[in-house]
Amino acid sequence: MNKDIYEIIDKLKNTHSLTKEEYLVLIKGRNPDTTELLMKYANEERKKYYGKEVFLRGLIEVSNICKNDCYYCGIRKSNPNCQRYRLTPEDILMCCKEGYELGFRTFVLQGGEDGYFTDDILCELIKNIKKDYPDCAVTLSLGERSKESYIKLKEAGADRYLLRHETADKNHYEILHPPSLSYDERMRCLKDLREVGFQVGCGFMVGSPGQTDEHIAGDLKFIEEFKPDMCGIGPFIPHKDTKFKDAKAGSVALTCYLLSIIRLIHPTVLLPATTALGTMDETGREKGILSGANVVMPNLSPKEVRKKYMLYDNKLSDGAESAQAKEELKRRIESIGYTISTSRGDVYKKD
Ligand code: SAM
Repeated sequence: MNKDIYEIIDKLKNTHSLTKEEYLVLIKGRNPDTTELLMKYANEERKKYYGKEVFLRGLIEVSNICKNDCYYCGIRKSNPNCQRYRLTPEDILMCCKEGYELGFRTFVLQGGEDGYFTDDILCELIKNIKKDYPDCAVTLSLGERSKESYIKLKEAGADRYLLRHETADKNHYEILHPPSLSYDERMRCLKDLREVGFQVGCGFMVGSPGQTDEHIAGDLKFIEEFKPDMCGIGPFIPHKDTKFKDAKAGSVALTCYLLSIIRLIHPTVLLPATTALGTMDETGREKGILSGANVVMPNLSPKEVRKKYMLYDNKLSDGAESAQAKEELKRRIESIGYTISTSRGDVYKKD
């Protein structure tokens, strides 16, 4: 017998934990009333730890060269229409300089799995960023690497690592990825990143091809148990040069609903209102924040490469999505009653 959904929402609010079946009831029971209630509770929790602050991260897309062939991704290696680029360490340092002057105190280096970025190159780059900007955090999002590599990157001074788990269901993982990529390896990486001492982020696409409500319930249970410091979720958006080009995009409303639930699972988690959310809906970023998100990641990549990091069709990189338009972003965030924080924005630790 299903428990009454309102009892489940209360249980989530009070214990921050549900069974997979209860998460499923929440997902299936989405309606205007449950959405509003979860949003209200999510905002109350967030306020306890982060007040009305929204943290900024400067996103530097270091390379769109990738050895992988994730079926959903526009920069996958077998897309012949992707115009490839790679930033040099000097380019990346210039982006950090510009970002620092604009007030950013976290730099996120994200990219495809590009063999050019060896441990030696990355470690020297991280050390240089930390030398020039000791008050800044460095976040990496460079995919799957060996534990030895993660240890070196951590020792060089990187603080955080984002690696979405993509889906907590092995069969679903195989629908989204070629046989060369495995669910077990993705999980191995997440475990190693945690052991190495990074603040770790996981996450998934909402509405990815083949995803069911049961899969999402499994993702929520995984997030509950893994206890990530950051969690990136955004709608799946098809890309014209992938086999999922005709697949339906994920829903903004469901993404926002899940943001509220994730905020209630882990009240201190750092939760971005993602670019994908802003791409699907002109006010998606604001909706994400109002649902429980507390991070935004404007684009700090050099303007001439931004359009080439096209993970999905029409990906935003200008307007308030651009680091240079910080004033516009500030105004938009203030218009919904929040403020932009200029601090490093580390995860809140209770003790
Ligand atoms: N290569 C690194 C990795 O695998 O973690 C980082 C870059 S990867 C392009 C960043 C994220 O983009 C992925 O984790 C995936 O969830 C998201 N992404 C890729 N294609 C997408 C699409 N079509 N729609 C929405 N998000 C997408």
